[in-house]
Formats: sequence, structure tokens, C-alpha cells
Amino acid sequence: MVKKLSIMIITILMLSILLIGCDSNRQSTQEIDNDKLNIVATTTIIGDTVRKIGGDKINLQVLMGPGIDPHLYKASAGDVNKMQKADLLIYNGLHLEGKMGDIFEQLQKTNKNTYAVADVIDPNNLIESEEFAGSYDPHIWFDVQLWMEVVEGIKDTLINIDPGNKDYYSENTLRYLKELEDLNNYIKSRTDELPEAKRVLITAHDAFSYFGKAYGFQVKGLQGLSTATEAGTADVRDLADFIATREIPAIFIESSVPSKNMEALKKAVESRNFSVEIGGELFSDSLGTPGTEEGTYIGTVKHNINTIVDGLLQ
Ligand SMILES: [Zn+2]
Repeated sequence: MVKKLSIMIITILMLSILLIGCDSNRQSTQEIDNDKLNIVATTTIIGDTVRKIGGDKINLQVLMGPGIDPHLYKASAGDVNKMQKADLLIYNGLHLEGKMGDIFEQLQKTNKNTYAVADVIDPNNLIESEEFAGSYDPHIWFDVQLWMEVVEGIKDTLINIDPGNKDYYSENTLRYLKELEDLNNYIKSRTDELPEAKRVLITAHDAFSYFGKAYGFQVKGLQGLSTATEAGTADVRDLADFIATREIPAIFIESSVPSKNMEALKKAVESRNFSVEIGGELFSDSLGTPGTEEGTYIGTVKHNINTIVDGLLQ
């Protein structure tokens, strides 16, 4: 009887192991498509760009969802597994993914194909960090012309690994670059609506310096380059003085940064007898909801420039 029971238990155990095995197989075929280039991208911004170039010739997984702050994001065990299985990992670099540096290093040691999109940019065109000596501002995507260089860099990387689809990747890239050229002109024409003295952008963290440099805005972030450093009371005080003195009509919150600091800044400005509006929400380090216009890079950039200009025109 005891023997029969233990045989039954062993059979049940083996069956469940088999079932679990099947389940994990199914899982991996969902994630890994052997006919296509399997790519893992870190941020939604990089993901959207890679998708525009790779189209249906790639199988893409994006680690960070919309609204996720890449400075603070820590890779899960599942993420590490995805990165290890992928043919190519594409990330921003310049320490944007501040908590993932060790993982990237490990992957590079094991000869995994990794590509930092910022590598394509001439260091002369990068903005040096005031806070961290010897390092650069990672928020390169809001200068559309710099991002066009990134698009070329991603295309070359895909062609290197998958030369059979060279024509396909090249055609997609050409088409997309044309759209980005139009986008760049759109930003310039909206900016022209603002008198120069009104081109001052105040946001939650320093994500818009490349935008400011490219389109002629003075830019100030309450928090620094990384949201990992909290804004101090002195930062709030200095910025509140600046806003009240310059009579800046609007400041902007960011979708991937909690708004409490900007609310505190608004109050501090009001205590200086000047009223500043929250001009709306900008997308900084993450795109909006997938399936909406703001779920794409182009839609996000348009949303931002429209929000900024409309807010500052008041
Ligand atoms: Zn940032």
C-alpha cells in the first residue's frame, strides 16, 4: 500500500515537472523567435526607435514600461534572463540606466552583443555634466537631430548582425529620418511663436538640456541630471527666486517623476507674491501609453513642444 502510494506520488511529481517544463517552453517560444533577430531595449524611447527601423524583421522586448524612471530602474531576474537570451541588447548609455551598469558589464564580458546608442554621438556634441565631473548628460533624445544620428547608428548595428535584411532596414531608416526632419522643423516653427525672452523651460529634473541647446531655450531642472539625487531646500529657494524675478508664467511636471517637488516649487513662488502655473505634463525619460500618439517618440516630442509653447505663451 505504502509502495503504491509512493509510486503514485512520484508519478504525480513527474507529471507536474513535465507540465512545468512544457509551460516554460511555451513561455520561451513566445519571447524568443528563432527566425528573427531577438532584441532587448531598455527604455520606451529606444524601443520605439528600434521598432521603426527593425519593423517585422525583429522580435523586440522593452524592459521599462511607460512612466518608468530609467535612472532608478533595477533589472529583475526576468530582465537579466531576457538580456542573456537576446541576440542584441540596445541601451542608452552615458549612465542613463544608472542601476544597470554592472549587468551591462557582465554581459559584455560574456561577449554578448550590446550596443549603447549614445556611442554614435561625437563627444563634442554631448553636454558635459556639471554635477559629475568627466561624464555627460544622457538625455540626448530631445535634440531631434542628435536622435537622427542615433537612428543611423541603430540601423548600422542591425545590419552588422543581420546583413540579409540590409535593404529592409535601410529603407525603413530613410523613411523614418524624413519624418524626423519634419518633426525637427515642427519644433522650430512652434518655438518661433514664443518671444525669445519667454523661452525659459523649468522642469522637474535636468532632462531637457539638449532640447534647450538645440532650440534656444534656457533650461532649469529642479533635480539634477539623475532623479537619484533629491532636490534640496536651497534648490527650491533659488529656482523660486529666479521664476518670480523673471516672471515665468509656467513650470512643467514630468511623467516619470513624482510631482510633489514641483508643487512645492509652485508654493515657494507664490510666497514671493508671484503666481506660476503648472503648464502641463511633459514626457522626459519615458514615452506615453502604447497605442496613443504619445506612445511614440514623434508623438511625445510633439506633445512636449505643444505643451511648452502653449504654457509659456500665457
Ligand atoms: Zn532623466
